[in-house]
Amino acid sequence: MTSTNEMGLASERVESSTDIDLSDVHCSTICENILWKPVSCQQCETHFCSKCITLWLTKNPNQCPLRCDSFVQRPCSKFIVKQLSKLQIACIYRPNGCNEIVPYEALEKHEMMCGYKLVKCSTCQSEIPEKNLPEHQLQCSSVRTTSENFQITYEPNAPVLLDSDVNYSTEQFQQYRFEVQSEIRKLRQELREAQSSGVTRNLRVMGLSPKTRNEQLSSKNDELNLTKFHSLT
Ligand SMILES: [Zn+2]
Ligand SMILES: [Zn+2]
Ligand SMILES: [Zn+2]
Ligand SMILES: [Zn+2]
Repeated sequence: MTSTNEMGLASERVESSTDIDLSDVHCSTICENILWKPVSCQQCETHFCSKCITLWLTKNPNQCPLRCDSFVQRPCSKFIVKQLSKLQIACIYRPNGCNEIVPYEALEKHEMMCGYKLVKCSTCQSEIPEKNLPEHQLQCSSVRTTSENFQITYEPNAPVLLDSDVNYSTEQFQQYRFEVQSEIRKLRQELREAQSSGVTRNLRVMGLSPKTRNEQLSSKNDELNLTKFHSLT
């Protein structure tokens, strides 16, 4: 809605009306607001908004709202033009954030150019102040691009585990088993040597006892069996 389409200006929008009687500049008997693009009745010289009197005349052909004999339209009086030109009016887009107070005569031009006029974003269809549109459209299209970039493609026939992966695991397991088995052999050998040559004392000095060695052996075996178990399940 712009002032151009309005019947008249709501008197709350008048910010300054020094030495003006607002009743002089109101649209008599029709919208009762501040006159917008006024015209008058030739006979009674009452002023009405152009829009208001046009609408009135379609319902009441040739009749003055103040019951003159017949309605003959005249241009607005110089006095009314002068009074109106003294008014300072708040922009109609004040609810959208515009804080401009504009002289009556500059109002239409301002409201046509006002950046707080609501426009529709062609992407998301939401209504936003025109001045925020370029910034909004950047975000609006970037949101779309982001979701396109992170789109997950699902291929129902893709194999869950490739044959090469399975071979690699088996190879790793074989390698690990080989390492563990050779370590066990080495430990057994060491233990036998220790027991037969009586160096048990030396092992104790190193913080190792034959018992510890046996424990190490059995834990290694457990580890190996556990790994085998996991590989089978
Ligand atoms: Zn009249
Ligand atoms: Zn009016
Ligand atoms: Zn504005
Ligand atoms: Zn948008």
